[in-house]
Amino acid sequence: MTPDDENALPDFLRDAHAETLGIRAGIARSGEGEHGEPIFTTSSYVFDSAADAAARFSGASSGNVYSRYTNPTVRVFEERLAALENAESAVGTASGMSAILATCMAFLRHGDHVVCSRDVFGSTVGLFDKYLPRMGVSVSFVPLGDLAAWRAAATAKTRLFYCETPSNPICEVADIAALAEIAKASGARLVVDNCFCTPALQKPLELGADIVIHSATKYLDGQGRMLGGAAVGSAEDMAEVTNFIRTCGPSMSPFNAWVFLKGLETLSLRMRAHCENANKLAHWLQQRSDVSRVHYAGLPEHPGHELASRQQSGFGGVLSFEVPGGQEAAWRFIDATKLMSLTANLGDVKTTIVHPATTTHGRLAAEQRDAAGIVPGLIRIAVGLEHIEDLQVDCQRGFDALRV
Ligand SMILES: *Cc1c(COP(=O)(O)O)cnc(C)c1O
Repeated sequence: MTPDDENALPDFLRDAHAETLGIRAGIARSGEGEHGEPIFTTSSYVFDSAADAAARFSGASSGNVYSRYTNPTVRVFEERLAALENAESAVGTASGMSAILATCMAFLRHGDHVVCSRDVFGSTVGLFDKYLPRMGVSVSFVPLGDLAAWRAAATAKTRLFYCETPSNPICEVADIAALAEIAKASGARLVVDNCFCTPALQKPLELGADIVIHSATKYLDGQGRMLGGAAVGSAEDMAEVTNFIRTCGPSMSPFNAWVFLKGLETLSLRMRAHCENANKLAHWLQQRSDVSRVHYAGLPEHPGHELASRQQSGFGGVLSFEVPGGQEAAWRFIDATKLMSLTANLGDVKTTIVHPATTTHGRLAAEQRDAAGIVPGLIRIAVGLEHIEDLQVDCQRGFDALRV
């Protein structure tokens, strides 16, 4: 992809709001007059002539060659997501993890160094802990909110700062603008995994981040149907990421891109509803004597409340809380619920419940878990779009099970 006008929004969309961009950005009609976006299920493309083939291969003319490189349906998704993140460019990938891998491969070389927040997604830790060191890239993990630790960890070799905010599962909030400043002073790019907020609630690039990562698998799809991901940023940076994807293959499937497009159409609406439900559930949990602690940035007592209020336009759909009685009690609570799905996924209209210490964060050493606040009595709920009263009734089943 080149930094030309191909990705520019038409004038009539330039000042449009997220609700509108999610529905209207990136539409490219095929010539059949269709209203819905078509799915281009083709692996390759035909050329007008041998000369045209040569020009497309050399890059002298634009145009599709092969779906590992470009696909019109994937392009609509990329343009729509870029518009939502207020970015020059976006690149669709086969999964969130492949967006993270492609970003690493685009910007890291043997001898380089990464500073990463401690509480990132489990497979991200796996990539950073196991595979990057094999390539001669070292990684320092620091507490998300400790700016002095980020500053101290940076070296002359640091190329990437990597974080997720708010963090999973205790909703710690990072100051993106402050991190961007430290990254810039260290000559590194700041990469923010924006999976939990989505551009409907937070736009990291506007706060100074260089690259945004998405697992489209979560809220961008919103209904738990398929895997996908994206990297978002400047046209120049995304050209590097695109190069890796085109060469090495973790491209987004056109069918998946089409489903994600439908997800983006309702993203703003869904995120508002997720936030409203999560906020109500967090306040309800907070008032109970059988809950020892609630982690949700929408609660005024939460240490990240003020920062999240400034940096996000909503507090998100994920919360966690602690029940007294440790793992035994947490498991009893979870097993007594009926409505919520017991699964580690999130970002779905269906509410999910999970015990982080023995699932998503089970592979961490106990002291790493303690440092991250993932105590044995902690339960995470990714609040979906069922009626709040039905979710409260389901939680009540869990609390009743703790009393017997
Ligand atoms: C799920 C997730 C990922 C990985 O995405 P996949 O689509 O599963 O590869 C990365 N970051 C966060 C925050 C996630 O929740």
